[in-house]
Amino acid sequence: MPQEWDIRPRSDTCVNCETSFQDEQDVFSALVLREGQYRRDDFCATCWGQQEPAAAAYSTWQGFFRLPPPPRQPALEKETAESILRRLMEEKDESRRSVIYILAVMLERKRVLVEREVKRPPDGPLIRVYEHRQTGDTFLVPEPGLRLDQLEQVQQDVIAMLGGDPQKRTQEHDEDAAEENTGGDSP
Ligand SMILES: [Zn+2]
Repeated sequence: MPQEWDIRPRSDTCVNCETSFQDEQDVFSALVLREGQYRRDDFCATCWGQQEPAAAAYSTWQGFFRLPPPPRQPALEKETAESILRRLMEEKDESRRSVIYILAVMLERKRVLVEREVKRPPDGPLIRVYEHRQTGDTFLVPEPGLRLDQLEQVQQDVIAMLGGDPQKRTQEHDEDAAEENTGGDSP
């Protein structure tokens, strides 16, 4: 019995005839255990009718194929990491301190902000002092004390706020980091 659960998304095409599903078309799905792995197969009605009774199927169901929703329209005035950071810091919403911290780190990496000082109050969190390179504004950003896995989640949330694709942006960040590393090693 396999231990790992995962969700398999619905295919865009019939597994048998490879015809693309149309919007609101009937789709027949089977979750089949093969070689210790669950595999999901999606069939059009015609191909499903030609199947042997699905004895091997772990479960079967019938549904509609739905075309994915169109991509979200960009907002008229696009929010940037900086505009969101400024807004959230003005709102002084304690629950957003993780988001504020991540935005500040992002802007530091983009060289919009530069870290000027780290304050270590005897009681309370470490505070990073950032300065805006262009305007000279100072941003005092307390560290939220996130664990690495929490940090990851907040990063995804922030990228979503910016209307981006989390996966893509993460890769871009990794590339940025790699460039910075190689740049630092050169004589
Ligand atoms: Zn088919």
